[in-house]
Amino acid sequence: MTNENMNIVIVGHVDHGKSTIIGRLLADTNTLPLGKLEQVREACRRNSKPFEYAFLLDALKDEQAQGITIDAARVFFKTIKRKYIIMDAPGHIEFLKNMVTGAARAEAALLVIDAHEGVMENSKRHGYLLSMLGIKQVVVLVNKMDVVDYNQKRYDKIVTEYKEFLLEIGVEAQSFIPVSGFMGDNVAVYSAKMPWYDSMTVLEKLDQLDNAQTPENQMFRMPVQGVFKFTAGGDDRRIVAGTIDAGKVKVGDEVAFYPSAKKSKVKSIERFNAAKMDEDSVASATGFTLEEQIYITRGELACIPIEAKPQVSTRIKTKLFWLGKEHLGSNRSYIIKIGTQKVSAELEKVMAVLDASTLVKTERQFVQRHEVAEVIFKLEKEVAFDKAENLIETSRFVLVDNFEI
Ligand code: GDP
Repeated sequence: MTNENMNIVIVGHVDHGKSTIIGRLLADTNTLPLGKLEQVREACRRNSKPFEYAFLLDALKDEQAQGITIDAARVFFKTIKRKYIIMDAPGHIEFLKNMVTGAARAEAALLVIDAHEGVMENSKRHGYLLSMLGIKQVVVLVNKMDVVDYNQKRYDKIVTEYKEFLLEIGVEAQSFIPVSGFMGDNVAVYSAKMPWYDSMTVLEKLDQLDNAQTPENQMFRMPVQGVFKFTAGGDDRRIVAGTIDAGKVKVGDEVAFYPSAKKSKVKSIERFNAAKMDEDSVASATGFTLEEQIYITRGELACIPIEAKPQVSTRIKTKLFWLGKEHLGSNRSYIIKIGTQKVSAELEKVMAVLDASTLVKTERQFVQRHEVAEVIFKLEKEVAFDKAENLIETSRFVLVDNFEI
């Protein structure tokens, strides 16, 4: 058993079977607490309602997910290869909010499509969002194969239709697996009911995915949350504090802060209420002292310049998925939050507008709710950010509709 972890997200149109598949994964990997399956089955019998794998998820949410404040259920299951932390996003708004703000991160996704109902608008929209978020490893599960009598033609039709869509949005053909979450076919165990399918089960496929893109292996990025002064042994010292978004930092590294581009070497690394450390990495709330007392403020982005420098600019060209109630237009003012930076912004130009599920392109100077657009923002002052191609996490930002100008 390794200590390797992998975060995955499960998305799909409502009722296509996300919770059922999660319940099945937990049950079939023996990750459930002892007696839990029987307990839930018994509760169903008592209430004379049919057992659902989705109930397992509800029963576990409280136990496993304590203290988690994100709007998604997080549960885990283990295989011989690694531990998977799986996030079930109730809807794409919650999912996006979590992913964009960094409350949740995922290296891979399971996208569920109901074999009977077929590809829905949300199946496409979610696929588009995954590609925008930089999640390249998407396994499409064509679920409820039992409902369509394990019919290969039905499966092939969905695969062809969805592959065409992925091609149109520039995503490489992904793997597809015909499953039944309810019956357990091809989830943990290969199903003899679909002899026409001779490839991997969901678990085999997951174990085969690449975990190299985890944020630990990326370049160091830490948005500065604050600089705290304290006195130790008669020395005035300053700790630069924040949460590491990506990469690692160690004592002796030269770090630079952007937009100001001030530099110094890391003298010590310390966590609140913990011993000193030589190195710290992603997702840690950490702090470090510097060899020189340079003046840094909240909002700057700490990097290791020999790894890669971020962009610093007063303009951002970006692709976005608009969730605001009002149209995104040049008659309003916005706030952009990137890491701990916060600036006001105005829409300078709309390059292209696209409906995320129908892919219909429109030429327009404003963007409506649920449209994807490529736009340019003009910012009130310089900010530091990464280009989407280079980084998974820190290239994301949150845009808030501020007020009418
Ligand atoms: P979610 O909204 O995507 O989480 O969907 P659920 O997992 O709650 O499933 C919705 C309904 O479809 C439930 O009544 C499930 O029992 C049913 N369901 C899910 N997967 C399957 C399947 O593979 N076969 C059959 N027959 N029913 C399924």
